[in-house]
Amino acid sequence: MARLIDGKAFAARLRTRIADETAEFVTDTGRRPGLAVVLVGDYAASQVYVRAKQKACEEAGMSGSVHRLAPDTTQAELLAVIARLNADAATDGILVQLPLPDAIDADAVIQAIDPAKDVDGFTTASAGRLLIGLPGLVACTPLGCLMLLKEVAGDLAGKTAVVIGRSDIVGKPMALLLLRESCTVTVAHSRTQDLPAVVRSADIVVAAVGRPEMVKGSWLKPGAIVIDVGINRVPAAAGKTRLVGDVDFDEAEQVAGAITPVPGGVGPMTIACLLHNTLKAARSRAGLNPTT
Ligand code: NDP
Repeated sequence: MARLIDGKAFAARLRTRIADETAEFVTDTGRRPGLAVVLVGDYAASQVYVRAKQKACEEAGMSGSVHRLAPDTTQAELLAVIARLNADAATDGILVQLPLPDAIDADAVIQAIDPAKDVDGFTTASAGRLLIGLPGLVACTPLGCLMLLKEVAGDLAGKTAVVIGRSDIVGKPMALLLLRESCTVTVAHSRTQDLPAVVRSADIVVAAVGRPEMVKGSWLKPGAIVIDVGINRVPAAAGKTRLVGDVDFDEAEQVAGAITPVPGGVGPMTIACLLHNTLKAARSRAGLNPTT
């Protein structure tokens, strides 16, 4: 039976450590690290995410401000808000909650964020720094996955890793992080041939696909470490719904060496890593060593 990788507990420990380090930052600098979240429109799920991020900031001793803009905000108005936050000395991190309304070019908005404040790690500057191995702010979800992997497996050098999914926000940065750890990395996607055989070659499997329970137990190498990024809502009994990952958990836990559950695995790490990145940006901007 696989060891359960308790992302919720790990994230709680990380958040406690970040709160301690935030208190030190406040003592050293006389100000709180500040995260500005920009929310355009009234998309219900975004409201929930934004509130959770603001609450997490406050619990860590940071200042979390939410800039709520009307659904008909123009791109120019949004860019003006970003420019103001870029110039604001009290703002260390800027996060634009996605999705944005169709009339706005999301990429143009993301690229307008000062890379020093890019706590989501989505700007081309941040992605490029990761690609060529320079220090910088790394996308929160893959960063959280890497932290869990290192907690479970320690040194990852020499391990074979398969990342299923090649999105700019999860799959690609995950693959680069694993490469940085000296794993031998394969990136699989919708055109990959014989995916089960590819997955079976891996000591580490990261599934970031968005397809409920796609990865079967029979696909896994016995003892593999499985990180399930997927969050899929599927029908359950009595007309209700439940969350499942991209991995068939019941099957996989019979074969894997360790596995993240959904929920309670990668999800809680994403928000903890947002706090990690905000503190890192604040330390860097204050001229302190960004890594503690
Ligand atoms: P995207 O839809 O952007 O990317 C999905 C990737 O999966 C694509 O690269 C796609 O391939 C690949 N894919 C789709 N179908 C298959 C298939 N049948 N076989 C192999 N590969 C396939 O998704 P994201 O990366 O944004 O998110 C992935 C999952 O992670 C989602 O469930 C999302 O909800 C979840 N997520 C969870 C987070 C968390 O905090 N836990 C944060 C972010 C995302 P191709 O490129 O060829 O189309």
